[in-house]
Amino acid sequence: MKGTVFHGPHDVRVERVDDPEIKTPTDALVRITRAGICGSDLHYYHGAFPIEPGFVLGHEGVGVIEEVGSGVDRLKKGQRVVVSGLVACGRCFFCRRGQPSQCFESGSAVFGYGASAAGKLGWLGGEQSEAVRVPMADYTCYPLPDAIDDDCAVFLADILPTGYFGAINGNIHPGDTVAIFGCGPVGLCAVMSAKLFGPSEVIAVDSIPYRLDLARKLGAFAVDTETAQQTILDRTEGRGADVTIEAVGNDTALTSAIMAARGGGTVSVIGVFATQSFNFPIGYAFMRDLTFKIGLANINAHIPDLSRLIEKGTLDPRPLISHIMPLTDAPKAYEIFNAKKDNAMKVLLKP
Ligand code: NAD
Ligand code: ZN
Repeated sequence: MKGTVFHGPHDVRVERVDDPEIKTPTDALVRITRAGICGSDLHYYHGAFPIEPGFVLGHEGVGVIEEVGSGVDRLKKGQRVVVSGLVACGRCFFCRRGQPSQCFESGSAVFGYGASAAGKLGWLGGEQSEAVRVPMADYTCYPLPDAIDDDCAVFLADILPTGYFGAINGNIHPGDTVAIFGCGPVGLCAVMSAKLFGPSEVIAVDSIPYRLDLARKLGAFAVDTETAQQTILDRTEGRGADVTIEAVGNDTALTSAIMAARGGGTVSVIGVFATQSFNFPIGYAFMRDLTFKIGLANINAHIPDLSRLIEKGTLDPRPLISHIMPLTDAPKAYEIFNAKKDNAMKVLLKP
């Protein structure tokens, strides 16, 4: 089959790779019909995470079940599913508590990042390909209702649950002001998710005009990074935002999110950081009585709720799609998404 293979920074190629096979009874094989390129893939594309080349990229996939192992109970051949970016068993202490990102059995395995992200499961395939082997398939695949098309369903694989996780971690109360740093696809999923919890205003921050325009269309008050701190103070009678969400993954945005929160406010971080440490303003956070939350999203746990919200029309992520390209154009698709060319937002691949 064909897959998008990582060769090094700014070098991905679509090549022939081995067809996936069932290896353990709880595996399923999924023929991919749509895949997403994520901001998380860009950390690898930039060379920010030094890893071994040669693996197939992609952790956002939708497709059709082609084969199931003898231990798979809830899926059958021919079923349309979204594959969670995160592999989880659904049965361990953490999965039962709604924390599949800490799954004890999978070791928090994520598709498409070579051996480094494979957790306890060994090498996992990537979903920017024609097919993928899905371990722990009963809880890693979610059957899709007919009302959710493939383009829409890709958002359920990672970034919509991530935005939702950011909003839940923010503990948003009705009437709150929520400030979201970063208006990429993930930040805009956080904008849509935050609105579900009844804030009086969502302030979206970025420096790219077309991304701010889209945030505005989704109902946020959009503001440039340069004037964000002052605007947030002006719109909260000088207090700062009740909740801030960092959806970028860099120190500048994280510092801004901390500084923009009011006394007693919550800072919720969903950006992925390539660095291992951060100069945390602990004295300031202490005096301001801040709550700090961070983590890999509990994707599998949020998919059922988000699926219903899309199915009933309460959520619609489709305005975020800027490009749908053939899988064979993956190198070009990466280039466009990375350089934010051609008003790029969510870029999807079609095998
Ligand atoms: P993206 O690169 O398309 O978007 C990032 C946006 O942040 C850009 O629009 C950029 O202009 C903006 N930005 C940069 N510096 C800023 C600053 N100082 N203040 C405000 N905005 C700033 O990426 P994306 O696909 O939206 O992903 C965003 C982040 O979410 C990435 O770090 C990605 O790895 C992470 N992510 C996390 C999870 C999770 O489980 N926590 C899941 C998926 C993605
Ligand atoms: Zn992703």
